[in-house]
Order: sequence, then C-alpha cells, then structure tokens
Amino acid sequence: MAAQLFDQLSIRTKLVLLLGLSLGLGLCVSSGVALYSTFAAERQSSLRALHQIAAITSENMRAALAFHDAQSAANILAPLHTNPHIRYAFVEDEQGHLLGQYRAPATTEAETTAWRKALQQAGAARPDGLHQGIGYDHHYVVYPIDFDGKRIGALAMRADNEAMYAKMRQFVVLQGGASVLILGSLLLLSWRLQLIFTRPILELIDGMRRIGRSKDYATVLATHHTDEFGELYRGFNAMLREIRVRDEKLSQLATTDTLTGLANRGHALETLQAMLTRAQRQGRPMGVILLDVDHFKQVNDTYGHPVGDRVLRDIAHILQANVRAYDLAARFGGEEFLVLCDGADLPATVDMAERIRSAVASHVCRLADGQTLHTTVSLGIHAGTDIRATAMQLIEAADQALYRAKQAGRNRVEHA
Ligand code: GH3
Ligand code: MG
Ligand code: MG
Repeated sequence: MAAQLFDQLSIRTKLVLLLGLSLGLGLCVSSGVALYSTFAAERQSSLRALHQIAAITSENMRAALAFHDAQSAANILAPLHTNPHIRYAFVEDEQGHLLGQYRAPATTEAETTAWRKALQQAGAARPDGLHQGIGYDHHYVVYPIDFDGKRIGALAMRADNEAMYAKMRQFVVLQGGASVLILGSLLLLSWRLQLIFTRPILELIDGMRRIGRSKDYATVLATHHTDEFGELYRGFNAMLREIRVRDEKLSQLATTDTLTGLANRGHALETLQAMLTRAQRQGRPMGVILLDVDHFKQVNDTYGHPVGDRVLRDIAHILQANVRAYDLAARFGGEEFLVLCDGADLPATVDMAERIRSAVASHVCRLADGQTLHTTVSLGIHAGTDIRATAMQLIEAADQALYRAKQAGRNRVEHA
C-alpha cells in the first residue's frame, strides 16, 4: 500500500521525501545518543556532588560522633538546607543509634523513617559501609565515619533528581530546537539539491512532448551535462536521428520508383494536385506531358525484359536532364512517363516536349553484346491556364493528345 503510494509520487517528491526521512532518522539517532550520554554524565555528576558534600560533612561529623554530641551533629547538618535538593540526611553510631538528622521542609516524618531504613540497608549491605546509588527520582550516599582506625558510625544523605532533570529538560529543549532548525534548513537544501537531478529529466520530458506534438524529428535536445544525464540526452538525440533517417528512407521509398529513381505515380499525382492548386490560385499556367515509349513491347520481345528495363532507365535519365529544377519527371505506369512543368504555357511545354522527344530519338542505347538500340517516344501535352480543370482532367487531355501522336505515326508531340 505504502509502496504503491510512493510509486505514484513524482521523482521530485520522492527525492525530497527520501532525503528528509534519512536526515530525520540521522538526527533522531544522533539526538538519542547525545541525550543518553548527557543523562549518564548528569547521573555521575549528581552522585559526585552529593558525595563531596557527604565527605566534608562526615569529616566534620567525626568529633561529634566520637563524643556522642547530638547538638554538634545537628549544627553540622543544619547548613544542608542551603542545598534545596538534599531531602534528608542523618548520622548514626555503630550501634545504629541516631545522633542527628536533617530533613528538608517538604520531607515528611513517614518518608524519613522509610528512607532511613532503606539507607541503613544499603550501607549495611557493603562490607566497607560506603555506598551510593541513583534511582528514578533520587540518589543517595552512605558514608562511613572512622576514628583512630575504628568505625564509629555513618552519615547518609538522600537528594532528589530535580537538578538532573532540569538540566535534561534544558538539553532536550536546546537539542530539539537545534534539530528542528537543522532539519528545516537541510530540507530546504534538499529541495534545491533535488533540482540537480529532476531538472534535466523534466527538461527531457518537456522536449519529448514537444517533439511528439510537432513530429519534428530534426530537433536536437541541447544539454551541457557530461554525466549520465548527458548520456541520456545523447541517446535520445541518436534515437531522433535514426527516426529521421528512417523517415527519409520511408518517404523516399513511398515516393520513388525503384527501377528508374524517378517520382512514382502516387507522388506525381500529389505533386500535380499541389501544382495545379497553386497555378489556379496565382492564375499562372502549367503544362502536363504524358510520354509513352513507342513499340516497347517489341523491345522486350526482341532483346528481353532486362534490356527493356535499361531503356526505361535511359529515358528516365534523359527526362531528368531536360526538366527544370521546379518541374517533376515521374514514371506514371509501365513504360509511360509524366512530366509536370510548373508555370509553363503551351509553347514552353511544347518546347520541352520536343526537346525530350529529340533527345530520346537521338539517344543510342549500347547493349552489352555491342548491339545498338534506338527508341522513340510519343508525347501528349495539355498546357495553359484552365481554372476549372481537375488533375485527372489534365491527364486525360494529355492522354488524348498522346493517343493522337501514336495515331499520327509516333515519335511526335501532340497537344490538346
Ligand atoms: P505503343 O507504341 O503503341 O505504345 O506500343 P507498345 O508496344 O509500347 O505498347 P504496349 O502498351 O502494348 O506495350 C507496353 C509494354 O511495356 C508491355 C509490357 O510488357 C512492357 N512493360 C511494362 N512495364 C515494364 C517494365 O517495367 N519493364 C519492361 N522491360 N517492360 C515493361
Ligand atoms: Mg503504353
Ligand atoms: Mg508504348
């Protein structure tokens, strides 16, 4: 479920989320470690502080204990009130008789009884009588007092942990505040950093969409990246190049006649339609020449099909050599060719047709076995400015003229 939700997020959000989570986790672990070590250090320092007070007090207490002087003992313990955390202290002799005690104002009689018993047990449990410990809400010290190398009693003190907890609270507030600040600024930084990774991807997606819409595969997506993103861009551009080359090949295959290399019938009709529309819009003339090889069947029958093909290719070369750059020569059918003359009126079209006719007629096709072959073509023309004509009407008119040229003896130019 969570994985599915995560998958749906954008790369940008995923990156920020991952960076934020890892930063948060890192901060939590380091804060936890810092908190624990501070806690351990504070425990030690609380015990050390109480230990020092107990050491000084027990030193002072030695004479009072040796002489069983309860008044002195009370006087020695009285200044403990200056430390608000010391809740209870008492001094007793070796037989366990209480010589004196200090009780903080907030400590009850019942508490002192219970605490004294607990402290006596803690001290008695140790062979040297010295003992210290720390619990959830208090810490304590039991300090033996010797005189002339002989145990004469013990001093016990119990203090609350408030000072330690106050320090811990302060630490948590400071550490928490610093963590929030660090996390906030690192998240901001991670937002900026994710741009380094997402921007090239988003730009690539944008470029892909643009190319998808425009189908302009000649586009090259520019990039200054030299890393894996650069690789991605270069790969994408190489793919575009391949599409472009394939497109060009396909369109060439779709528009070219494979035998002669001229435009094929489909492309010729498309070009005728476009040329006619343009001519009609601009009121300019145009010419159509339909050309058929004379007695071609005989060529095939006499010399074979491959020679017939060779003748068709030779005629295609002659056509290419005689049309202008903005005209179109096409193979229209088996041995029929079509020439579209842009902007040409009847005299100009007749002129061109005559040029083609005589070029073919004077062309000598030399065969592999040394034989020579002469062919002629008949040409039918329709040219001029005919606003209402359709493409097919132009072809039909040229075809009729071609028919007349055949009828009139071939190797001729006739016009509608
Ligand atoms: P006409 O002077 O009346 O045009 O006589 P023709 O022999 O040229 O007329 P016809 O239309 O009867 O013959 C055309 C021949 O062209 C028939 C066909 O075998 C041949 N032909 C069509 N396409 C090709 C081709 O691609 N290669 C070859 N070698 N011959 C082809
Ligand atoms: Mg024919
Ligand atoms: Mg023919």
